[in-house]
Amino acid sequence: MSRRLIFFLTFLFFYSSQTFSSDYPQGFVLTEPYVWPVKGLNTITGTFGEFRTGHFHMGQDFSTAGKIGLPILSVSKGKVTRVQRKWTSIGYAVFVQHDDGMTSRYGHLHKFAPKVVKQILKSKQSRRFKDRVDFDIVLPEPVPVEKGEMVAYSGDTGVGPPHLHFELFKDDIYYNPMHFGLGYSEGEEVVFDSLRITPQTSRSFINGKHETIDIPFYPVGGNRFELSESPTISIQGKVGFQIAIHQKSNSNRLGIFTLDMSIGEQLLQGFQLSKILKNHSRKNVLLYDSSISKANGNPFSYFLHTRDGNDLLGILKPEREQGLIDSESLKTGEPKEILIRAKGQGNRQAMASFYVTKDQGDYKHIITKEWTYNVQFDRYTTFKSKDTRVELFFPVNAIYSKGNFEIEAKENVKIKTEGLNQLSSVYEIGPEFKDFNLGYDLYVKVPKSRDINSADLYEVLPDGSVKKIKGSSFSSWGTFFKVRLRKTGLFVVLSDQTPPNIYLHESMNKTVFPKEDFALMLKAVDVGSGIMPEGFDVTVDGVRGKAEYFPKDGRVEVFEPELLYTPGKHTLTASVRDYAGNWSQTVRYDYEIESPPIVPEPKTITVEPVKNVVTKEKKETNTPKATQQKQKSPKAKKSTSR
Ligand SMILES: [Zn+2]
Repeated sequence: MSRRLIFFLTFLFFYSSQTFSSDYPQGFVLTEPYVWPVKGLNTITGTFGEFRTGHFHMGQDFSTAGKIGLPILSVSKGKVTRVQRKWTSIGYAVFVQHDDGMTSRYGHLHKFAPKVVKQILKSKQSRRFKDRVDFDIVLPEPVPVEKGEMVAYSGDTGVGPPHLHFELFKDDIYYNPMHFGLGYSEGEEVVFDSLRITPQTSRSFINGKHETIDIPFYPVGGNRFELSESPTISIQGKVGFQIAIHQKSNSNRLGIFTLDMSIGEQLLQGFQLSKILKNHSRKNVLLYDSSISKANGNPFSYFLHTRDGNDLLGILKPEREQGLIDSESLKTGEPKEILIRAKGQGNRQAMASFYVTKDQGDYKHIITKEWTYNVQFDRYTTFKSKDTRVELFFPVNAIYSKGNFEIEAKENVKIKTEGLNQLSSVYEIGPEFKDFNLGYDLYVKVPKSRDINSADLYEVLPDGSVKKIKGSSFSSWGTFFKVRLRKTGLFVVLSDQTPPNIYLHESMNKTVFPKEDFALMLKAVDVGSGIMPEGFDVTVDGVRGKAEYFPKDGRVEVFEPELLYTPGKHTLTASVRDYAGNWSQTVRYDYEIESPPIVPEPKTITVEPVKNVVTKEKKETNTPKATQQKQKSPKAKKSTSR
């Protein structure tokens, strides 16, 4: 391709990117850029619209240089109106409602600014704040903040390492902060990683094969990339392209802002991540290939063609199959150039090019399986297994795009059912599929039998072990089990009439304990339905107690009644039930807590010895309990950030 043509196309690119819908809410005018929300720093570690497992990244991540306690500033004038604590996701977060109509949310905070705390303490839910349990509090009186005023301190609460997660929204639309003066000028080069080409029909061929191929790109200078293998790909039938690409930024991989593809001079497809509807958050699977994309960008794999049901705001051509290339549209012997252009932060750009040519080969000898789709995103579908005992019901929006599902009774699956009765065949629902939206209902009919009351639906894992499926219900009128699933795999109905077992933990290997750090430990195991965490029946000296169950290793810690820690002799009894309703035998344990060394003033002890000792004990046993509670709220640290 001539240089002149490249320049022409580059020009076309920027021209065309103007034709996307507005980057701001209707009527919004940005009078001056927003203030960088992390005081003293200028790096971003995640961009708007990046792939995350199960959702789009609805905001931008700002580096806090791994630090906790940096001032977090309001990006613009407004009022702090709301605060949250969500320990499994965003941690502590504040909302600022700005005078210009936008709302910003700042997450993973260490703590709130003092004047915000003051308002929280005035709210009806202040108890939850003090108790450090999750909350979502609308402040009784909004706290006015100036542009650049501190609203909180940076932290690592919720998921991920220390950083600031920042969102900007109005009504139900989330906006890309880069358009508000928070773009990142230090983003390094945009790097094309690889091209993936996928046959789109059962009779599509790529370089003579009916297979998906991946070809790496390599840089040729001037922000241009070419395929590392032959630059010409021969196609027959309909094929789709996707691109693994990222922008470098220090040691991070950032998602890109725009991508588009043209053939010759015709723009085929593209997107721009300027805004995302709130309820499109989980539609990330329409833009990213969820089977290979990773939250850390290794890779972000973007589709360059429309998947069915794609109504994302930034898609250039949302109509069906836009972006697919059909060899019928090519002329024999005239390879066409495909040009892919990308833009990232700091206006950094890159482009990649290669050729496609029409393949006239005769592939009659290659036998391929007919492709059918029995489930579409926009209609409901139901079908049954051959033995009619299992029915699958896919509501509208059960899945994103389309899929083909099968259900089959499997005869030769070895499952570990020791202690369990098998009440149905093992059914396989396939193939493996990840892009579920609402999911589907699985109905399994079972014959009436005596042990139906202890029966439930189980998933069969690859090693043959079984796991009870949560949330299933049983209709005794229709004798079927029903559950909403968002996965495929092997399923079976089993009845569990084997009681669980409960016994002393190995640390209870003696009967006399010093009172310091004493923990009353048991162990519970169950085959089948599993130990019910709230199913413990515990007493100490006849007083009803409480126990916490740790599913990972079966540990059970009895932590109430408090008298279990007091010096003297005690008797514990404990039993537990499983989900199927079977009760274990009762374990009984006699133990003694040593009295503390006798303190001076021996005469006073004779007056009311028991009371004195007890009150004293109460104070001291508070210490191990407090530590225990702290440990109970571990942060679910994952490697990826929100
Ligand atoms: Zn984030």
